Amino acid sequence: MGLSKSQLPWHRTKIVCTLGPSTDAPNVVERLIANGMDVARVNTSHGNHAEHAQRIRRVRQAAQEAGQPVAILLDLPGPKFRIGNVPNGSLKLVEKTTVALGANDELEGDSSSKDWSYLPIRNPELIQAVVPGERIFLADGLIELLVQAVVSGSVECKVLIGGVVRSGSGINLPESTLDALVPTEEDRRHLAFAVAQEAEWVGVSFVQTAADIMRVRALLPDGARTLLMAKVEKRKALQNLDQIVEAADGVMVARGDLGIETDLAQIPIVQKRIIAVANAKARPVITATQMLESMVEHEHPTRAEVTDVANAVLDGTDAVMLSAETAIGRFPALSAGMLDRILAATEASGIAQGMGEIDSRWVAPWAAGSAPVGAAPSEPGNRLCNVRSNADSYTWAHTLSGAACRLGAGLGAKAIIAQVCTVAEAMNIARFRPSIPTVMTTESLHLYRSLALVRGIAPQLAPASSDERVTAIARAREWLFAHQLAKPGDAAVLLYASANGEADSLQVIWL
Ligand code: PGA
Ligand code: MN
Repeated sequence: MGLSKSQLPWHRTKIVCTLGPSTDAPNVVERLIANGMDVARVNTSHGNHAEHAQRIRRVRQAAQEAGQPVAILLDLPGPKFRIGNVPNGSLKLVEKTTVALGANDELEGDSSSKDWSYLPIRNPELIQAVVPGERIFLADGLIELLVQAVVSGSVECKVLIGGVVRSGSGINLPESTLDALVPTEEDRRHLAFAVAQEAEWVGVSFVQTAADIMRVRALLPDGARTLLMAKVEKRKALQNLDQIVEAADGVMVARGDLGIETDLAQIPIVQKRIIAVANAKARPVITATQMLESMVEHEHPTRAEVTDVANAVLDGTDAVMLSAETAIGRFPALSAGMLDRILAATEASGIAQGMGEIDSRWVAPWAAGSAPVGAAPSEPGNRLCNVRSNADSYTWAHTLSGAACRLGAGLGAKAIIAQVCTVAEAMNIARFRPSIPTVMTTESLHLYRSLALVRGIAPQLAPASSDERVTAIARAREWLFAHQLAKPGDAAVLLYASANGEADSLQVIWL
């Protein structure tokens, strides 16, 4: 039995780990949870449903044993073109040679010339979609091809930058104006699987418009509570960012594909913009891809990677994500543990604190109710302030939640306690990025797990009771004391709605 998370220092930013062959080894899932995993990601671009179901079962069981909420995020593949089965699994493309991409397993006719190679592709539509002069990227953008001709069922390309391509690796066409529809047939199949598995979150890949999210939502059966996360990885998604964030329940800064589909040099600024919009619209946001990439092979990350993780926290992300590091890397548990340490250190610095430090700067524009939506923050120095003054509406719930956070910060209370029924309700508080833990109790197992993704929230499962207020306080007290975040007699702020709908109350209580 490893160290349980309740013995680790708690931090507010959450950790997403992608499952894969490396996490199938004995005890790895248990160690990921012990090292801080809050969300387990299942990537349906690889593997099959039986394999995914087995992994989900293992996570659920280990989470229950550890007494931790862990959400499942299941990513749909989306309309991404992929390489088919390459003989022997991989092929080396050499600079200045010619490669033909085609829908057959092998090139017909003579392909023995050493200046020619052939790559099978899974999606024949690609052949119609490209035109000479356009560039094609393979293997996460490492390999660059230039389309020279489209002839009899194949695309002839010159290799501009060579490298090794593996079966199933992704193909990006950033220059084509292909209006591929989300969801694809394959997405529909995986979505039905996600619903059957009761995955809390579904990642919708290669979203370009809000309508893409709405079409996926329309496929959910009545009563399904599945939450949709828009993965921002296309140029067009950046143009429609506000509407996409509004249509979705959460957002991912999917830097892997975004770094191929758009200008790589813009990624740091684009990340800040996406996070700012998500914060302003009260949607949880994940910062993803290559966060600790060198740990796929090595026991230690680079300084630049550590700094990147810390900066995502300072940008206001809800969660940071590991992909290959945990799915196929040599040190999955160590990678999660490293994230855990960086998050704790960054938050402890006080720079990443929420409104405790900034309230006098943001209260005025907020209270005045002025609220331009979604614009990128204009002054970097005042970033947190600007994010909050961009909040999109000035409603009852926002006012109460904001007051709870201000009251907690002003009094030096040790926690905010709230009883919640929906993610939106929880986000009303979490959007203020309170600097003290927010303990949220719910009767819903789905909500308890879903909220594991949200920054600053410690979800608690509370059994249905005749006095929800008393139950919420009891659960919060137990958790805060166990984590040494509060002691008897400390103040906390309680926000709750009476069951009969008679009153919304904001109270100061003593633990
Ligand atoms: P992926 O998404 O790992 O499913 O491709 C994340 C990204 O593109 O960064
Ligand atoms: Mn991607």
